[in-house]
Amino acid sequence: MATQKKQSGPRRHAPMRTCVGCRSGRPKREMVRVVATVEGVQVDPTGKKSGRGAYLCRSRSCWDLGLKKERLAASLRAVIDAPARERLRQYAETLPPTESEDQVVNEGRSDP
Ligand SMILES: [Zn+2]
Repeated sequence: MATQKKQSGPRRHAPMRTCVGCRSGRPKREMVRVVATVEGVQVDPTGKKSGRGAYLCRSRSCWDLGLKKERLAASLRAVIDAPARERLRQYAETLPPTESEDQVVNEGRSDP
């Protein structure tokens, strides 16, 4: 009804990113960026590190999917070595198992 006045600025709509785990699109600021740097793949909470990035929801299940199926590695076009994998897992441990409002649908096991 009432027309809301939006903040003036160059931002027309929230930038969307696709989660490499569940493949759903979300506003970038609700997601966590992972970046491939010369030091290896790492979590980039600030979103400002340079390098090829990928985005994941703030839910552990998405990180599990991204790591298990190598989607994250494919998206980053990088190898996720053991230390990097451990870092990502540790970060995922701090996240809720799944998101309460938007439950991740199980895709079913269709591994080739
Ligand atoms: Zn996700």
